[in-house]
Amino acid sequence: MTAAGTFIPAFSQSQEQAGAGIPARGLAVYEEKGGFKPYEFSRHAVGDNDILIEILYAGICHSDLHHVFGDWGKEEYPMVPGHEIAGRVVQVGRNVKKFKVGDMAGVGCMVNSCGTCAECADGKEQYCRDVVLTYHDHDQFHGGEVTQGGYSDKIVVTEKFAARIPDGAQLEKVAPLLCAGITTYSPLHYAGVGKGDKVGVAGFGGLGHMAVQYAVALGAEVTVFDITEDKRADAGKMGAVHYVNVNNPEELKGLDGTLDFILSTIPASYDPAMYLKMLKRDGQLGIVGLPAFANMPRLSVSSLVFQGNRKVFGSQIGGMKETQEMLDYSVKNNIYPQVEVIRAEGKAVDEAYGNVADGKVRFRYVIDMKTLK
Ligand SMILES: [Zn+2]
Ligand SMILES: [Zn+2]
Repeated sequence: MTAAGTFIPAFSQSQEQAGAGIPARGLAVYEEKGGFKPYEFSRHAVGDNDILIEILYAGICHSDLHHVFGDWGKEEYPMVPGHEIAGRVVQVGRNVKKFKVGDMAGVGCMVNSCGTCAECADGKEQYCRDVVLTYHDHDQFHGGEVTQGGYSDKIVVTEKFAARIPDGAQLEKVAPLLCAGITTYSPLHYAGVGKGDKVGVAGFGGLGHMAVQYAVALGAEVTVFDITEDKRADAGKMGAVHYVNVNNPEELKGLDGTLDFILSTIPASYDPAMYLKMLKRDGQLGIVGLPAFANMPRLSVSSLVFQGNRKVFGSQIGGMKETQEMLDYSVKNNIYPQVEVIRAEGKAVDEAYGNVADGKVRFRYVIDMKTLK
């Protein structure tokens, strides 16, 4: 996602009470591709519509790596990444209705938006031109402060941009739902995937393994595409009927024109035309994986014309209403990511980053923020 603009609406300052910041601690990188080290900073004061969350778990999303590595352009440092946040509400502003102290709350990729534009009115806050991203952004509703993410001990967020975590949820597994969950749940519903549909999931990592579980729950027959043999058994356990190792040309034979919907979660270079060809007429290719700018996949106009009457769309996370719906649905149906919980220490996070970059993660790292020193 691109950084939001710095436009400051006239009403914005009134949303925030004047007051001292709240001291916070986290793990930050101090330079591009740098290692993680402790960082002390401050969160803005709890305004009338805000809640203060004690962060218990923070997921490591592949996009965190892209930001830390500078894959999507120049960034500002120190940077505390993390937009998969689960924690406990420890303070609420006087107008807050959705939460009380002690409730569990989740925060995803955004922390505010204008609230008045057509996108916000439609519950698609992620497409608001004034959306404030959870980190690597400037918060125009708080004087342009640099936002810092979930690899930290606490966060202040307006209640609208926190989701209620249902009772009985497996908390360490909830955090990745706030990005990996909603990013795959939303396009499956947008595409209208239903019972008996033949669905392909390209890329079987943090996002892909969530997409498989949601598609299976919707009654689809799922084919997984990845470049490794290592995850073949996992795909079957999650309910996928077919697994295709795209490095083996034999396995790709006979697939053209067979699928109703394909979701690409691939975070590296690949050929979208190969997947477009696999669609039936009226089929759809949804794209959520966003590789580094330097090796962004290209789809030729000729592919679109020759594979006519197929649709291609991109998708970014989901709005807050849909995020809540996804969270309730996931917990109720016991759909969770497979996670490995690590300690909130620079060395452990650096090591996890290396494994995510090398494709060795299985399937999501979650940082136990309670272990932050
Ligand atoms: Zn993410
Ligand atoms: Zn808006």
